[in-house]
Amino acid sequence: MILNTVRLPHFNASADRKTVKLPLPKKVIISLSQSIGASCEPIVKKGDEVHTGQLIGDSDAFVSVPVHSSVSGTVAGETEVLSVSGRLSRAVVINTDRLQKNCESLKPPVIENKEDFLKAVRDSGSVGLGGAGFPTHVKLSYDSKKTPVDTLIINGAECEPYITSDYREILENSQNIADGIKLVMKHLEIPSAIIGIERDKPLAIEQMREITENYPAVTVKPLSLSFPQGAEKILIYKTTGRIVKEDERPYSAGCLVLNISTVAFIAEYIKTGIPMIKRRITIDGDIVNKAVNVSAPIGATLSELLRSADARIIPDRIIFGGPMMGVCVYEPETPISKTTSALLLFGNSKLKKESACIRCGKCISSCSMNLSPVEINKAYDASDKALLKKLRVGLCMNCGSCSYVCPAKRNISEKNQLAKQIVK
Ligand code: SF4
Ligand code: SF4
Repeated sequence: MILNTVRLPHFNASADRKTVKLPLPKKVIISLSQSIGASCEPIVKKGDEVHTGQLIGDSDAFVSVPVHSSVSGTVAGETEVLSVSGRLSRAVVINTDRLQKNCESLKPPVIENKEDFLKAVRDSGSVGLGGAGFPTHVKLSYDSKKTPVDTLIINGAECEPYITSDYREILENSQNIADGIKLVMKHLEIPSAIIGIERDKPLAIEQMREITENYPAVTVKPLSLSFPQGAEKILIYKTTGRIVKEDERPYSAGCLVLNISTVAFIAEYIKTGIPMIKRRITIDGDIVNKAVNVSAPIGATLSELLRSADARIIPDRIIFGGPMMGVCVYEPETPISKTTSALLLFGNSKLKKESACIRCGKCISSCSMNLSPVEINKAYDASDKALLKKLRVGLCMNCGSCSYVCPAKRNISEKNQLAKQIVK
Protein backbone atom coordinates (compact mmCIF):
# COMPACT_ATOMS: atom_id res chain seq x y z
CA MET A 1 0.00 0.00 0.00
CA ILE A 2 1.33 3.44 -0.94
CA LEU A 3 0.69 5.76 1.97
CA ASN A 4 0.73 9.42 0.98
CA THR A 5 1.15 11.85 3.84
CA VAL A 6 2.60 15.32 4.31
CA ARG A 7 5.12 16.67 6.80
CA LEU A 8 3.88 19.66 8.78
CA PRO A 9 5.68 21.87 11.29
CA HIS A 10 4.47 21.09 14.80
CA PHE A 11 4.57 24.51 16.55
CA ASN A 12 4.05 22.80 19.91
CA ALA A 13 4.93 25.72 22.20
CA SER A 14 2.29 24.65 24.73
CA ALA A 15 3.71 21.13 25.12
CA ASP A 16 5.87 21.81 28.19
CA ARG A 17 3.24 23.75 30.14
CA LYS A 18 1.07 22.05 32.74
CA THR A 19 -2.66 22.38 32.15
CA VAL A 20 -4.29 25.26 34.04
CA LYS A 21 -7.95 25.70 34.91
CA LEU A 22 -9.95 28.24 32.93
CA PRO A 23 -11.48 30.71 35.43
CA LEU A 24 -15.11 29.73 35.95
CA PRO A 25 -17.21 31.63 33.37
CA LYS A 26 -20.27 33.68 34.42
CA LYS A 27 -22.36 31.56 32.10
CA VAL A 28 -22.05 28.51 29.87
CA ILE A 29 -23.93 27.69 26.67
CA ILE A 30 -24.24 23.93 26.37
CA SER A 31 -25.16 22.56 22.95
CA LEU A 32 -27.68 19.73 22.88
CA SER A 33 -25.92 18.33 19.81
CA GLN A 34 -22.37 17.36 20.72
CA SER A 35 -21.93 14.21 18.68
CA ILE A 36 -22.39 13.22 15.07
CA GLY A 37 -25.65 11.54 16.13
CA ALA A 38 -29.13 12.76 17.00
CA SER A 39 -29.63 15.96 18.99
CA CYS A 40 -30.83 15.69 22.58
CA GLU A 41 -34.07 17.09 23.93
CA PRO A 42 -33.64 19.42 26.90
CA ILE A 43 -34.86 18.06 30.23
CA VAL A 44 -34.44 21.32 32.13
CA LYS A 45 -36.25 24.63 31.68
CA LYS A 46 -35.72 28.30 32.38
CA GLY A 47 -35.44 28.99 36.12
CA ASP A 48 -34.41 25.45 37.09
CA GLU A 49 -31.53 25.13 39.50
CA VAL A 50 -28.90 22.70 38.19
CA HIS A 51 -25.83 21.13 39.71
CA THR A 52 -22.50 20.16 38.20
CA GLY A 53 -22.74 16.88 36.30
CA GLN A 54 -26.56 16.92 36.20
CA LEU A 55 -28.22 15.46 33.10
CA ILE A 56 -29.75 18.35 31.12
CA GLY A 57 -30.45 16.73 27.73
CA ASP A 58 -30.97 13.22 26.36
CA SER A 59 -32.27 11.32 23.35
CA ASP A 60 -33.84 7.91 22.71
CA ALA A 61 -31.67 7.47 19.62
CA PHE A 62 -28.88 4.91 19.88
CA VAL A 63 -26.44 7.15 17.98
CA SER A 64 -26.50 10.06 20.39
CA VAL A 65 -24.97 10.95 23.74
CA PRO A 66 -26.55 12.63 26.77
CA VAL A 67 -25.50 16.13 27.76
CA HIS A 68 -24.71 17.24 31.33
CA SER A 69 -24.27 20.58 33.04
CA SER A 70 -20.65 21.61 33.47
CA VAL A 71 -21.48 24.08 36.23
CA SER A 72 -23.89 24.63 39.09
CA GLY A 73 -26.30 27.53 38.67
CA THR A 74 -29.63 28.49 37.15
CA VAL A 75 -30.98 27.77 33.68
CA ALA A 76 -31.34 31.15 31.95
CA GLY A 77 -33.10 29.77 28.87
CA GLU A 78 -32.44 28.28 25.46
CA THR A 79 -30.54 29.56 22.44
CA GLU A 80 -29.16 28.22 19.14
CA VAL A 81 -25.51 27.49 18.37
CA LEU A 82 -23.57 25.90 15.51
CA SER A 83 -23.09 22.19 16.18
CA VAL A 84 -20.14 19.98 15.19
CA SER A 85 -21.98 19.02 12.02
CA GLY A 86 -22.20 22.68 11.01
CA ARG A 87 -25.96 22.80 11.62
CA LEU A 88 -27.73 25.06 14.08
CA SER A 89 -28.62 23.21 17.26
CA ARG A 90 -30.51 24.01 20.44
CA ALA A 91 -28.43 24.89 23.49
CA VAL A 92 -29.09 25.45 27.18
CA VAL A 93 -27.77 28.67 28.76
CA ILE A 94 -26.81 28.35 32.44
CA ASN A 95 -25.78 31.23 34.71
CA THR A 96 -23.18 29.91 37.16
CA ASP A 97 -23.57 30.38 40.92
CA ARG A 98 -19.79 29.96 41.33
CA LEU A 99 -20.35 27.21 43.95
CA GLN A 100 -19.76 24.23 41.64
CA LYS A 101 -22.02 22.01 43.75
CA ASN A 102 -21.91 18.47 42.41
CA CYS A 103 -25.15 16.75 41.47
CA GLU A 104 -26.08 14.41 44.35
CA SER A 105 -26.81 11.47 42.09
CA LEU A 106 -23.23 11.32 40.77
CA LYS A 107 -21.64 8.05 41.78
CA PRO A 108 -19.38 5.49 40.14
CA PRO A 109 -21.39 3.08 38.00
CA VAL A 110 -21.71 -0.57 39.07
CA ILE A 111 -20.22 -2.73 36.34
CA GLU A 112 -20.61 -6.47 36.35
CA ASN A 113 -20.61 -7.31 32.66
CA LYS A 114 -20.16 -5.95 29.14
CA GLU A 115 -23.72 -4.55 28.97
CA ASP A 116 -23.17 -2.58 32.20
CA PHE A 117 -19.92 -1.25 30.77
CA LEU A 118 -21.48 -0.13 27.49
CA LYS A 119 -24.38 1.49 29.35
CA ALA A 120 -21.94 3.32 31.64
CA VAL A 121 -19.99 4.63 28.65
CA ARG A 122 -23.23 5.93 27.12
CA ASP A 123 -24.40 7.47 30.40
CA SER A 124 -21.04 9.25 30.73
CA GLY A 125 -21.80 11.28 27.58
CA SER A 126 -18.50 10.18 26.03
CA VAL A 127 -17.64 11.06 22.44
CA GLY A 128 -14.29 10.59 20.71
CA LEU A 129 -12.13 13.45 21.98
CA GLY A 130 -9.98 13.39 18.85
CA GLY A 131 -12.47 15.66 17.12
CA ALA A 132 -14.95 13.63 15.07
CA GLY A 133 -17.61 13.50 17.80
CA PHE A 134 -18.47 9.82 17.31
CA PRO A 135 -20.38 8.45 20.33
CA THR A 136 -17.97 6.12 22.17
CA HIS A 137 -20.64 3.57 23.18
CA VAL A 138 -21.61 3.17 19.51
CA LYS A 139 -17.99 2.49 18.57
CA LEU A 140 -17.71 -0.11 21.32
CA SER A 141 -20.99 -1.82 20.34
CA TYR A 142 -19.70 -3.82 17.36
CA ASP A 143 -20.80 -7.39 16.78
CA SER A 144 -17.83 -9.35 18.11
CA LYS A 145 -19.13 -12.61 16.60
CA LYS A 146 -19.30 -11.17 13.08
CA THR A 147 -16.15 -9.06 13.29
CA PRO A 148 -13.96 -10.17 16.20
CA VAL A 149 -11.47 -7.51 17.25
CA ASP A 150 -8.03 -8.67 18.37
CA THR A 151 -6.28 -5.29 18.64
CA LEU A 152 -7.25 -2.12 20.43
CA ILE A 153 -5.38 0.80 18.90
CA ILE A 154 -4.93 3.90 21.02
CA ASN A 155 -4.51 7.07 19.03
CA GLY A 156 -1.88 9.27 20.67
CA ALA A 157 -0.57 10.60 17.38
CA GLU A 158 -1.89 14.18 17.67
CA CYS A 159 -0.37 15.20 14.36
CA GLU A 160 -2.05 18.58 13.71
CA PRO A 161 0.20 21.59 14.30
CA TYR A 162 -0.16 23.52 17.58
CA ILE A 163 -2.42 21.01 19.41
CA THR A 164 -0.85 19.37 22.48
CA SER A 165 -3.90 18.46 24.52
CA ASP A 166 -3.45 14.66 24.13
CA TYR A 167 0.27 15.05 24.83
CA ARG A 168 -0.53 16.77 28.13
CA GLU A 169 -3.07 14.03 28.87
CA ILE A 170 -0.27 11.48 28.61
CA LEU A 171 2.08 13.47 30.87
CA GLU A 172 -0.57 14.39 33.44
CA ASN A 173 -2.98 11.45 33.40
CA SER A 174 -1.16 8.32 32.20
CA GLN A 175 -2.56 6.08 34.96
CA ASN A 176 -6.11 6.72 33.77
CA ILE A 177 -5.02 6.03 30.18
CA ALA A 178 -3.61 2.64 31.25
CA ASP A 179 -6.68 1.87 33.36
CA GLY A 180 -9.03 2.85 30.51
CA ILE A 181 -7.18 0.58 28.09
CA LYS A 182 -7.44 -2.33 30.55
CA LEU A 183 -11.17 -1.70 31.04
CA VAL A 184 -11.91 -1.72 27.31
CA MET A 185 -9.74 -4.81 26.75
CA LYS A 186 -11.42 -6.64 29.63
CA HIS A 187 -15.07 -5.89 28.83
CA LEU A 188 -14.73 -6.25 25.05
CA GLU A 189 -12.40 -9.25 25.35
CA ILE A 190 -9.70 -7.71 23.16
CA PRO A 191 -6.42 -9.56 23.72
CA SER A 192 -3.91 -6.85 22.76
CA ALA A 193 -3.47 -3.09 22.52
CA ILE A 194 -1.06 -0.80 20.71
CA ILE A 195 -0.55 2.83 21.70
CA GLY A 196 0.60 4.89 18.71
CA ILE A 197 2.61 8.03 19.54
CA GLU A 198 4.73 10.10 17.14
CA ARG A 199 8.50 9.70 17.57
CA ASP A 200 9.07 13.35 18.38
CA LYS A 201 7.35 12.90 21.77
CA PRO A 202 9.98 10.80 23.60
CA LEU A 203 8.74 11.80 27.07
CA ALA A 204 5.21 10.61 26.25
CA ILE A 205 6.53 7.35 24.77
CA GLU A 206 8.69 6.74 27.85
CA GLN A 207 5.85 7.55 30.26
CA MET A 208 3.37 5.21 28.55
CA ARG A 209 6.02 2.45 28.38
CA GLU A 210 6.68 2.81 32.10
CA ILE A 211 3.03 2.81 33.12
CA THR A 212 2.22 -0.23 30.96
CA GLU A 213 5.40 -2.24 31.63
CA ASN A 214 3.48 -4.83 33.67
CA TYR A 215 0.92 -5.38 30.91
CA PRO A 216 2.66 -7.41 28.20
CA ALA A 217 -0.48 -7.27 26.06
CA VAL A 218 -0.05 -3.50 25.70
CA THR A 219 2.75 -2.11 23.52
CA VAL A 220 3.77 1.45 22.71
CA LYS A 221 4.62 2.03 19.07
CA PRO A 222 6.60 5.13 18.06
CA LEU A 223 5.33 6.45 14.74
CA SER A 224 7.12 8.39 12.02
CA LEU A 225 6.05 12.02 11.72
CA SER A 226 3.36 12.56 9.15
CA PHE A 227 -0.08 14.01 8.60
CA PRO A 228 -2.84 12.83 8.77
CA GLN A 229 -1.60 10.13 11.11
CA GLY A 230 -4.61 9.99 13.41
CA ALA A 231 -7.12 9.00 10.72
CA GLU A 232 -8.31 5.50 11.63
CA LYS A 233 -7.39 3.71 8.42
CA ILE A 234 -3.93 5.25 8.38
CA LEU A 235 -3.25 4.60 12.06
CA ILE A 236 -4.32 0.96 11.66
CA TYR A 237 -1.92 0.54 8.76
CA LYS A 238 0.93 2.30 10.59
CA THR A 239 0.49 0.28 13.77
CA THR A 240 -0.47 -3.16 12.44
CA GLY A 241 0.20 -3.15 8.69
CA ARG A 242 -3.46 -4.11 8.11
CA ILE A 243 -5.52 -2.47 5.39
CA VAL A 244 -9.14 -1.37 5.90
CA LYS A 245 -10.85 -1.46 2.52
CA GLU A 246 -12.91 1.38 1.07
CA ASP A 247 -16.36 0.56 2.41
CA GLU A 248 -15.21 -1.26 5.50
CA ARG A 249 -14.91 -0.28 9.14
CA PRO A 250 -11.80 -0.89 11.32
CA TYR A 251 -13.49 -3.98 12.83
CA SER A 252 -13.15 -5.78 9.50
CA ALA A 253 -9.38 -5.60 10.03
CA GLY A 254 -9.78 -6.81 13.62
CA CYS A 255 -9.14 -3.36 15.07
CA LEU A 256 -10.88 -0.85 17.29
CA VAL A 257 -9.39 2.65 17.45
CA LEU A 258 -9.91 5.00 20.41
CA ASN A 259 -8.39 8.37 21.13
CA ILE A 260 -5.97 8.40 24.07
CA SER A 261 -7.87 11.09 26.05
CA THR A 262 -11.12 9.21 25.47
CA VAL A 263 -9.85 6.02 27.17
CA ALA A 264 -8.53 8.11 30.07
CA PHE A 265 -11.95 9.71 30.43
CA ILE A 266 -13.66 6.29 30.47
CA ALA A 267 -11.44 5.19 33.39
CA GLU A 268 -12.08 8.44 35.26
CA TYR A 269 -15.84 8.09 34.80
CA ILE A 270 -15.85 4.49 36.03
CA LYS A 271 -13.93 5.62 39.15
CA THR A 272 -15.88 8.83 39.90
CA GLY A 273 -19.18 8.86 38.00
CA ILE A 274 -18.42 12.41 36.82
CA PRO A 275 -19.62 12.66 33.20
CA MET A 276 -17.97 14.45 30.28
CA ILE A 277 -18.32 18.07 31.36
CA LYS A 278 -14.88 19.50 30.72
CA ARG A 279 -12.05 19.15 28.29
CA ARG A 280 -8.47 20.25 27.74
CA ILE A 281 -7.99 22.92 25.08
CA THR A 282 -4.74 24.20 23.60
CA ILE A 283 -4.65 27.99 23.18
CA ASP A 284 -1.99 29.02 20.68
CA GLY A 285 -1.41 30.74 17.33
CA ASP A 286 1.06 33.17 15.78
CA ILE A 287 -0.16 36.17 17.82
CA VAL A 288 -0.21 34.35 21.18
CA ASN A 289 2.66 35.26 23.54
CA LYS A 290 2.32 32.30 25.86
CA ALA A 291 0.74 29.14 24.50
CA VAL A 292 -1.15 27.14 27.13
CA ASN A 293 -3.48 24.22 27.71
CA VAL A 294 -6.57 25.01 29.74
CA SER A 295 -9.11 22.72 31.34
CA ALA A 296 -12.40 24.36 30.37
CA PRO A 297 -16.00 23.56 31.26
CA ILE A 298 -18.03 22.42 28.23
CA GLY A 299 -20.08 25.43 27.15
CA ALA A 300 -17.47 28.10 27.99
CA THR A 301 -17.73 30.66 25.21
CA LEU A 302 -15.14 31.96 22.78
CA SER A 303 -15.12 35.33 24.58
CA GLU A 304 -14.25 33.61 27.90
CA LEU A 305 -11.41 31.70 26.27
CA LEU A 306 -10.13 34.87 24.59
CA ARG A 307 -9.83 36.48 28.03
CA SER A 308 -7.34 33.73 28.96
CA ALA A 309 -5.38 33.98 25.70
CA ASP A 310 -2.26 36.11 25.91
CA ALA A 311 -2.62 37.61 22.43
CA ARG A 312 -0.49 40.53 21.16
CA ILE A 313 -3.10 41.95 18.80
CA ILE A 314 -6.74 41.43 17.90
CA PRO A 315 -6.87 38.17 15.93
CA ASP A 316 -7.63 38.28 12.25
CA ARG A 317 -8.69 34.64 12.23
CA ILE A 318 -9.93 32.41 15.04
CA ILE A 319 -10.08 28.63 14.71
CA PHE A 320 -11.67 25.99 16.93
CA GLY A 321 -9.51 22.89 16.37
CA GLY A 322 -6.32 22.53 14.34
CA PRO A 323 -5.22 24.62 11.34
CA MET A 324 -5.83 21.69 8.95
CA MET A 325 -9.20 20.34 10.06
CA GLY A 326 -10.57 22.98 12.43
CA VAL A 327 -13.32 25.51 11.73
CA CYS A 328 -13.19 29.31 11.77
CA VAL A 329 -15.36 30.94 14.42
CA TYR A 330 -16.57 34.53 14.43
CA GLU A 331 -19.31 34.78 17.01
CA PRO A 332 -18.06 35.60 20.57
CA GLU A 333 -20.90 33.54 22.07
CA THR A 334 -19.78 30.36 20.27
CA PRO A 335 -19.33 27.73 22.99
CA ILE A 336 -16.77 24.96 23.13
CA SER A 337 -18.12 21.43 22.88
CA LYS A 338 -16.76 18.01 23.78
CA THR A 339 -14.88 17.93 20.46
CA THR A 340 -13.11 21.31 20.67
CA SER A 341 -9.41 20.50 21.01
CA ALA A 342 -7.88 23.94 20.46
CA LEU A 343 -8.41 27.66 20.12
CA LEU A 344 -5.96 29.10 17.59
CA LEU A 345 -5.51 32.82 17.00
CA PHE A 346 -3.81 34.19 13.92
CA GLY A 347 -3.00 37.74 12.81
CA ASN A 348 -2.91 39.17 9.29
CA SER A 349 -3.82 35.80 7.81
CA LYS A 350 -5.18 37.07 4.52
CA LEU A 351 -6.24 34.25 2.21
CA LYS A 352 -3.88 33.88 -0.75
CA LYS A 353 -5.64 34.34 -4.08
CA GLU A 354 -6.45 31.15 -5.97
CA SER A 355 -4.88 30.81 -9.41
CA ALA A 356 -5.37 28.34 -12.25
CA CYS A 357 -4.42 24.71 -11.73
CA ILE A 358 -0.97 24.03 -13.17
CA ARG A 359 -1.56 20.26 -13.24
CA CYS A 360 1.42 19.54 -11.02
CA GLY A 361 -0.29 16.56 -9.39
CA LYS A 362 0.88 17.47 -5.89
CA CYS A 363 -2.63 17.24 -4.52
CA ILE A 364 -2.83 13.65 -5.76
CA SER A 365 0.49 12.59 -4.32
CA SER A 366 -0.37 14.15 -0.94
CA CYS A 367 -3.70 12.38 -0.49
CA SER A 368 -3.47 9.58 2.04
CA MET A 369 -6.71 8.06 0.69
CA ASN A 370 -5.20 7.86 -2.80
CA LEU A 371 -7.89 10.13 -4.27
CA SER A 372 -7.54 12.57 -7.16
CA PRO A 373 -8.60 15.82 -5.51
CA VAL A 374 -8.15 17.89 -8.67
CA GLU A 375 -10.41 15.55 -10.65
CA ILE A 376 -12.99 15.57 -7.87
CA ASN A 377 -13.02 19.36 -8.04
CA LYS A 378 -13.61 19.25 -11.78
CA ALA A 379 -16.44 16.72 -11.42
CA TYR A 380 -17.98 18.94 -8.74
CA ASP A 381 -17.82 21.98 -11.03
CA ALA A 382 -19.58 19.91 -13.71
CA SER A 383 -22.15 18.62 -11.12
CA ASP A 384 -21.25 15.12 -12.33
CA LYS A 385 -22.57 12.92 -9.53
CA ALA A 386 -21.72 9.66 -11.28
CA LEU A 387 -18.11 10.70 -11.79
CA LEU A 388 -17.85 11.92 -8.18
CA LYS A 389 -18.92 8.45 -7.04
CA LYS A 390 -16.42 6.83 -9.38
CA LEU A 391 -13.72 9.09 -7.97
CA ARG A 392 -14.67 7.80 -4.45
CA VAL A 393 -15.25 11.27 -3.01
CA GLY A 394 -16.94 9.64 -0.01
CA LEU A 395 -13.49 8.58 1.22
CA CYS A 396 -12.30 12.17 1.54
CA MET A 397 -11.76 12.87 5.23
CA ASN A 398 -11.33 16.62 4.95
CA CYS A 399 -7.71 16.44 6.13
CA GLY A 400 -6.75 19.54 4.13
CA SER A 401 -3.44 18.08 2.85
CA CYS A 402 -4.33 18.69 -0.81
CA SER A 403 -5.10 22.38 -0.20
CA TYR A 404 -1.94 22.71 1.91
CA VAL A 405 0.40 21.46 -0.84
CA CYS A 406 -1.31 23.16 -3.80
CA PRO A 407 1.06 25.79 -5.31
CA ALA A 408 -1.92 27.51 -6.96
CA LYS A 409 -3.52 27.92 -3.50
CA ARG A 410 -6.73 26.30 -4.66
CA ASN A 411 -9.28 25.47 -1.98
CA ILE A 412 -9.50 21.86 -3.09
CA SER A 413 -10.31 20.26 0.24
CA GLU A 414 -13.17 22.67 0.95
CA LYS A 415 -14.72 21.99 -2.45
CA ASN A 416 -14.43 18.23 -1.84
CA GLN A 417 -16.65 18.60 1.19
CA LEU A 418 -19.34 20.20 -0.98
CA ALA A 419 -18.83 17.41 -3.53
CA LYS A 420 -19.43 14.84 -0.79
CA GLN A 421 -22.78 16.45 -0.05
CA ILE A 422 -23.84 16.05 -3.72
CA VAL A 423 -23.14 12.32 -3.55
CA LYS A 424 -24.90 11.97 -0.20
S1 SF4 B 1 -8.88 16.56 1.98
FE1 SF4 B 1 -9.66 14.66 1.02
S2 SF4 B 1 -8.89 14.73 -1.08
FE2 SF4 B 1 -7.71 16.24 0.10
S3 SF4 B 1 -5.86 15.11 0.76
FE3 SF4 B 1 -7.38 14.93 2.42
S4 SF4 B 1 -8.47 13.01 2.01
FE4 SF4 B 1 -7.39 13.56 0.12
S1 SF4 C 1 -1.91 20.70 -6.49
FE1 SF4 C 1 -3.15 22.44 -7.20
S2 SF4 C 1 -2.14 23.07 -9.07
FE2 SF4 C 1 -1.35 21.02 -8.61
S3 SF4 C 1 -2.72 19.61 -9.74
FE3 SF4 C 1 -3.58 19.84 -7.73
S4 SF4 C 1 -5.06 21.53 -7.93
FE4 SF4 C 1 -3.72 21.64 -9.69
